[in-house]
Amino acid sequence: MPHSQTSPSCFGYCQCCGQEHFLFSALAEKHCLELMRSLQEKKRIDISASNEDADPHFSTEYLFGQARGKMFGILVCNDQQGSLHLLKAFSGQYNGIWEVDGWAPPLFKTETFLDISQGIEKKIKQLGREIELHPHNSDTKNSLTRERKSLSQNLMKDIHALYAISNFSGETKSLEEIFNGTGIPTGTGDCCAPKLLNYAARNNLTPLSLAEFYWGKENLSGTRRQGQFYESCTDKCQPILGYMLCGM
Ligand SMILES: [Zn+2]
Ligand SMILES: [Zn+2]
Repeated sequence: MPHSQTSPSCFGYCQCCGQEHFLFSALAEKHCLELMRSLQEKKRIDISASNEDADPHFSTEYLFGQARGKMFGILVCNDQQGSLHLLKAFSGQYNGIWEVDGWAPPLFKTETFLDISQGIEKKIKQLGREIELHPHNSDTKNSLTRERKSLSQNLMKDIHALYAISNFSGETKSLEEIFNGTGIPTGTGDCCAPKLLNYAARNNLTPLSLAEFYWGKENLSGTRRQGQFYESCTDKCQPILGYMLCGM
């Protein structure tokens, strides 16, 4: 949903406290507007690199092509001395890359993620091509289809197990633990808010305000438009944000 300034932008119900924890967006939105200006001027996300050192992978052109736009976010926090820190994040990968200097990292070790996923993804694609070659409803086709399904389900499980999610009460849990093992939506933990809060929790930073906006070509369903602010998503983020914001 597009976000209004008078309601919290980032929130979730905490099982532990039996109440909702939340953050407002006004302060972070000001910094997001500055970030939007930089994206508009520089047309790349490796903002701190000089023009000569800029990496073409990080051009914002990517956001206006087939992949379409994505969410960006800023978390304003305080360190223990009371100085302000601005953290920024993009959702998911940027042009196939998980880690970009100056942006909050994912909730897993990228190397381990690639080790686990690359081989199996190749195998899944290869099975897909084999499945095509067999006649509809043949025994071989059905058994290959089952094999592919179980490979991708196991891969999802292994990937979810890599996510280590910290909160401000000093706890670290896996996605399975937070969801009690029930239906974890694909991409949970990859949005801006979880990346930002996880980084803050691990670096003893106290969150003050969080805002997320969309940048690039509008999404297919037309529910995300460039330059608009949105609250944390209902299906993937809200179920984990109560836990993540606990202990602020
Ligand atoms: Zn989300
Ligand atoms: Zn709590």
